[in-house]
This record gives sequence, structure tokens and C-alpha cells, in this order.
Amino acid sequence: EVRDTAPARVTPMMEQYVEIKTANPDSLLFYRMGDFYELFFEDAEIASRTLGITLTKRGKHLGEDIPMCGVPVERADDYLQRLIAAGHRVAVCEQTEDPKEAKKRGGKSVVRRDVVRLVTPGTLTEDALLEPRRANLLVAVARARAETGGFAFGLAHVDVSTGAFAVGETAAETLGAALARLDPAEILVPEALLAELQPATAETRAAVTPVARDLTDPARADARLAGHFGVATADAFGALTRAELAAAATVVGYLERTQLASRPPLARPVREGRGATMEIDAATRANLELTRTLGGDREGSLLSVIDACVTAGGSRLLASRLAGPLTDVAAIARRHDAVEAFVEAPDRRRAVRAALRAAPDLARAAQRIAFGRGGPRDLAAIRDALKAAEQLAARIDGLAEEGAEIAGVASTLARADHALARDLEAALADDLPLLKRDGGFVRPGASRELDEARSLRDESRKVIAQLQAGYADATDVRTLRIKHNNVLGYFIEVPQQHGERLLKAPHAETFVHRQTMAGAMRFTTTELGDLERRIGEAGDTALKLELELFETLAARVSAGWDGLAACAGALAVLDVTAGLAEVAVDCGHARPHMDASLDFRLESARHPVVERALKSAGKPFVPNDVALSEPEADAGLVQLVTGPNMGGKSTYLRQAALCAVLAQAGAFVPAKAAHIGVVDRLYSRVGAADDLARGRSTFMVEMVETAAILNTAGPRSLVILDEIGRGTATFDGLSIAWAAIEHLHEVNRCRSLFATHFHELTALARRLSRLRNATVRVKEWKGEVVFLHEVAPGVADRSYGIQVAKLAGLPPSVVRRAKAVLDELEAADRASPVERMIDDLPLFAATRPKPEAGPDPLAEALDAIDPDELTPKGALEALYRLKALR
Ligand code: ADP
Repeated sequence: EVRDTAPARVTPMMEQYVEIKTANPDSLLFYRMGDFYELFFEDAEIASRTLGITLTKRGKHLGEDIPMCGVPVERADDYLQRLIAAGHRVAVCEQTEDPKEAKKRGGKSVVRRDVVRLVTPGTLTEDALLEPRRANLLVAVARARAETGGFAFGLAHVDVSTGAFAVGETAAETLGAALARLDPAEILVPEALLAELQPATAETRAAVTPVARDLTDPARADARLAGHFGVATADAFGALTRAELAAAATVVGYLERTQLASRPPLARPVREGRGATMEIDAATRANLELTRTLGGDREGSLLSVIDACVTAGGSRLLASRLAGPLTDVAAIARRHDAVEAFVEAPDRRRAVRAALRAAPDLARAAQRIAFGRGGPRDLAAIRDALKAAEQLAARIDGLAEEGAEIAGVASTLARADHALARDLEAALADDLPLLKRDGGFVRPGASRELDEARSLRDESRKVIAQLQAGYADATDVRTLRIKHNNVLGYFIEVPQQHGERLLKAPHAETFVHRQTMAGAMRFTTTELGDLERRIGEAGDTALKLELELFETLAARVSAGWDGLAACAGALAVLDVTAGLAEVAVDCGHARPHMDASLDFRLESARHPVVERALKSAGKPFVPNDVALSEPEADAGLVQLVTGPNMGGKSTYLRQAALCAVLAQAGAFVPAKAAHIGVVDRLYSRVGAADDLARGRSTFMVEMVETAAILNTAGPRSLVILDEIGRGTATFDGLSIAWAAIEHLHEVNRCRSLFATHFHELTALARRLSRLRNATVRVKEWKGEVVFLHEVAPGVADRSYGIQVAKLAGLPPSVVRRAKAVLDELEAADRASPVERMIDDLPLFAATRPKPEAGPDPLAEALDAIDPDELTPKGALEALYRLKALR
């Protein structure tokens, strides 16, 4: 905005600043000035608020003070992290020429500057900005017309910190679930779809970045993707759908726009087939606390209790496996085979885990090096990881048959670049600086030229020590010292009172006065100046040689990037597998029997997280069986669990779901035995969970979510409903729960668990053939209630709510009064219509057509009976026949 009344001229630097800032309006601009990144105007105000750093002023712009604040370049990572976490994007603007060049141009020339990188949540690579055990995904969503008609959504996701790249496609209804699985850091959404996709993106914690049409245009997608990978057409990546192609091209285009100075290497996109993973929507994930608790922590989640990985890459892979359990029986079995091999070979397991502990984060280190953002410690990480890979290849040799997952790992590890490991070992010093520009990372003996430059530099330092002694002798000032600082370089320092002596005395050297300090005077000599120059030159030469060596090694890392990424992948698989085996042995988990049936039976199953919590409190967990199927049935059972609050209903429900997730993620399960027919969708809902944050009433949320389940659950689904209907008046709630159970039983026909405190519902078992009642057992002891946490067939005789209230410390007078009220109510309840109604009300199903209407023997037999013709004996026989047909 230019004000025409502006009294002052704009300085050339401000002119440059404004130009760059105008090109990056959405980002805070980090403007490099010497050892600082400076922020101006509104950016400075935002940064000073967010970071708690002082806001100052620098000169004037159009007659007004310019607010400014700055962060030191050395600590920029720290500040960047906080700005990104607070939801900002940052454009990093560097000086792209030596300030001396600008001076040479003379006059008002400012140093050339350019934005080299836009820092966004999804494009981070620095360890300081990332969580080691969490992937950092950038996801692009694109919409395109599907070949089968209608629209499909393409999803492409990359982890810029490792170069992993995958694409897939999903329907509109499952977009939210697909995004929730990926748990991205940043989602790219076409501008035109922002509003439409808001509900789906809101299921994640990601930052949403709108992208303009030119990035998402499907017509240009093929060329962009092919261009990035230097291939003729994107057909090279297999048959991608239009939506997948558009999404992949959007990600690539976005990286080109934000990573200006250098491009991150990317693996070729891997295609994830539709339906390859268990569908789990965001509410179910949150509810089951798969990878984080409801409070948002990793600790206390399912992931935290089964993650025994010893490498960051292993933990990241495990998290992604747990978030996307497989549905293919053979693929699941391959993972189980691998875990089993390590369960059965404890010595090898221990040896493998010990070797893995020495393997640093290869994927991220190699990525940083290839990306031009790496340092000496990244090279060392690659060295150590490659060395570990070599050892591990030998350790797991012959552990598995050909074709098995571990055999694949073994051959990848065996192919790792061991020559690179040895060269890195020879080149790198023992103690490494963080930044390459600090030098000193090359091992003595690695380069003769470098050794020479270094000894010249070090020799000269010795000469300085001799010089100091010589000057002290010559001047007879014992306290004379030669020192060094960044402003003066080398100088001679003597206490104030001796200063005059140096200036006056007739010495061979001429001491030139440089500076007078409080109590000291500083001098230099021609000889010292010469020496300093020699030291400086030798130092520069040494650093230049070191940096050349660094670049040579970095070039080898780049050239071998694919192999290093594969090696990192193999190490992660090995870590996950050996870690799961370790957990299986330590915690007594068993290999589940998996197939394509609709079975679901767990013997003595436990809830792994509750079990661990109880164990650390010294309490035992009571195992329970779960049976949600009958052999060779074509539909699942609905198990209705009643019993008092705190009896263990929720725990029981959840452990069934967690076992399915674990099993299909490739882990063993906390049970003595398990038989699970693959689950394609998992649903879990808890009644009356507060969700005020989203501004919907609790009950409304509950109903919306229940509706989603009843509308979409299919025969392969596993459904868990905990206290649905609790959030409203009793009869309302009871009726809704009642209808929901009938619908699950008759229409969805899926394996279901339903916990409720409406005891009336247990009567439904008389009408619904696949409904099973179960109850959590309690014992009454001296008027107190004791929870046994045992789930047994049958119905709870009472709800024990008052006993629980008493345990919770309700005042005795209130407890007594509640008892009296209850007695009255129970007396009145005998006349309750509910019991009778259960038997009288026509079944839900009777009002709908049967899912598969075939010949019905019962109906045929009924039709064949003519009551007017029947003898009393014949009537009785007919009744028996009909009964048998049922
Ligand atoms: P409900 O859903 O019936 O109110 P919960 O499942 O929330 O009950 O369980 C209440 C508490 O009981 C849990 O926090 C846990 O400490 C304990 N508990 C639940 N199930 C078991 C079990 N099988 N063995 C031991 N303790 C259990």
C-alpha cells in the first residue's frame, strides 16, 4: 500500500523486502540479515507475540516506524518449530550472494536475497522440528470423475522427511476415515472443495492448505508427475486412476513451489488398493485410543503398549500398520509368520534387537543429506545404520523360507551399500560437529591434502606460542599474552601500566596500538599479522577440503538413495517384527487364526492397555471369552452385555475390537486363542461422550454416529455400541437402543457387541435368534458389591447403581433415600408395559422385506394347514412340526 502523502523515501532494502513479502503474503517472512533472520511489520508483531521475543523498531517506512524482531540463525529451528506449531507458515529468505559482491556493485545496491524455502507443517525434515517416532505426512486430496461414473477422491501422501510416497482412491463417504488413518500434518485441498471437504478434514489435526486450480488440474497431472521423476509418462507407475494421478501431481507441484532451493527425493508412488485396509472412522479411532488417547497422548494408547521397537523408523512403521490393519488374509499371515519366527527363536530375537539399537534413523538422515540439508552427524547415522544392516543380514540368514517377509528383509539388508559404510567410517572423525561449516569432521589420515593444510594451521598456532614468549622476553612484560577474538583477530595484550613500555621501548618489532581497554592495552605487529593470514588461509583451505569431501560423500548418498531407503524400510520391518515378538512373549499374546469366514471367537482375551495399568498397580486382569459367531454361520451374533456400572462392560467391548485391530495389523493378540474372520470395517461408539467442542449436543452426536453405523455396517463389519441411548429420557433411550439392536440383527447382520443398562432389552433374546445375553458378574458381600469382572451368559438381576454410588462416597443419607425411592419404583414397575411389549410388538424385520427372500419352509408348512380340518391330536402334531422348522 503506497500512500501518496509519504514524506520519506523507501530505502532500497525495504524496497526489496516489500517485493519479496508481496510474493509470499501467506507466510511470515524470515529475512536474512547477517547472523539473524529479521521480521518486519505485522510479521514482527505476530512473531514477537507467538515467540515472546522483544519487538523493536528499525528506521522508518513511508514516514512510520517499522516494527521489527529477529531470531538468531543458529537457533532458528527452535523458533520455526514454535511458529509452525502455532499454525503459521514461514518463508525463509536467504542472502544469495556474498555481501562483498553487493558492495562491488556500489552505491545503493543491496545484497541479493531470495526465498529458498517455505516451511509448512507437512514439509519439515529437521530432527528438531519432527517427532522421531511419528511420520510427518503431507496429503493431497483431488477429485475426479471415476471410470465407473460418479466422483472418486484421490489421496496422495508423502513423508518429506523420508521420501515415502503413496497414492490411493476412496469414495466420498470414506474420505474422512481415510484421512483419519493417515493422521497428516498438512492436507492440500483444492480451493473449490474447501467447504465441501471441511467435515472430512476436520476429522484430523492437520493444517489445511488451499491449493489453486493450476496445481490440481487433472489435465496437467500426468506431465507434472512424469516430469518430476524424469520419465516419459506417469504410466511408468502402473495404472493410476484420474483422481490418484491428480492427487499425486498436486503433492509434487506443491513441493516444487515450496522447496525452491532443492527438491526432496521421493520414492516412486506406491499404489494402495481400495479396501486393502480395515476401514476405521475417526470417532472409532479416537474411542479405541489406537495411536493416542482421548487426551491426545501417545502414552496410554494401544500403540504405546505394543511398541517395543528400538528404532524410530520401527516405531513409525508400527504406528502406520496399527492405523491401517490389513484385510488380505495372505498378507496378514505373512506378518504373523514373521513374528512367529522370532517368537520361536529367542536368541536371534535378542541379538537382532541388540544390533538394531545401534541403528540410527537412516531414512531421515539419508533424506536430509540427499535434500542438501544434512550435516556430518547425518553421514555418521548412515554409516552406523549400514553397519548394523550388514550385521543383521547375517543374523537373520536362514531364519525364514524364501518368499517370507523376513527373507525379503534379509536380501534387502544384504544388498545394502557396505562400501559406502566403510568409506564413511574411514572419512568421519570420532567427534562430529552439528554443522558442516564448523569443520573438523574429517578423520585425520583420510585426506593428505587436508592433513597438510591442518598441520600448517596448527604449526602456525605453535609459532604464535613461541612469538608470545619472544615478545615477553624482549619487552620484559611477563604478563604479555597473544589472544584472539572475532573482531580483532590475533592481538597482543598487556596490562595498562605496561602499555607505554611497548610503545616507547626500542624493540626490533614495532608494536602498533589497536585498542585500549579498561586495565589493558592491545597491540599488533607485522609478524603477527602475517601469521594470522597464514593461519586463516590454512584454515580456509582445510575447511574447503572438508566441504569438498562432504559433497563427494553426499553425492554418493544421493546416487544410492533408493537403496538406502529400501534398507531403512527393511530395518523398520525387522524392528517391528522382532518388537512384536518380544511383546507377544512378554505379555503372553497368541497368534490368531485368520481366515475369510465370519467367525469371531476369542478365548481368555484381555484388554492390553487396562491389563498393563492393572499390572503396574499389582492387580490381576480377569480374562474373558468373546464369541460373536457360530460356526459356519452367514451372519454374526449380537451380544448384549448388561451389568452394573464399573463392572467391566466397556473394557470387554473394547478388548474385542482391539484384538481385531492387532490381529490384522500383523500382531499377536492378548488371548489364549483367537479365530477371526477378517473384519473390513470397524465401528465403535460410546453413548453420551461430550463433544461440546464441535458445538453439537451430546445426544445429537451420538445419534449421528449411530446412524452412520446402521446405514453402512455390512456383514464383515465389527460393531461395538456402548450405552447407546443413554443421552436422553429413559423411554426415548430404550426405544432407540431397542430399534438399533433389531436393525443390527436383521439388516446389518454383523458381529456386534452392545452394552446397555436397559435390562429390559435382554428380553429381546426371546425374539432375535442371533442375540445372546451376557452379563458382568458381581458378588454381594455384607451389603457391598464386589465386581468380579467376569462376563457370563445370562442377565444381570439388578443394576447395583446404588451400591456403586455408595462405593463412590455418596453421603449415607442420600444412599438411604435412594434405596427407598428405588423400592417404590420397582413396586410400580411390575405393571410396566415394557416386558409385555417385547413379546407383543411385531419385529422390526416384519415391517421390511427379508434381505434374501427364498422359499420359506415355515410359511409353506403353515399354508398347508387348514385349522378347520384338524383334530386336537393333529393340531398338536402340527405345532411340533412347525416348532421344528423354526
Ligand atoms: P463399565 O463399562 O461396566 O462401567 P469399565 O469397563 O469401564 O466398566 O471397567 C471399570 C473398571 O473395572 C476398569 O477401569 C478396570 O480397572 C476394571 N476392569 C474392567 N474389566 C476388568 C477385568 N476384566 N479385569 C480386571 N479389572 C477390570
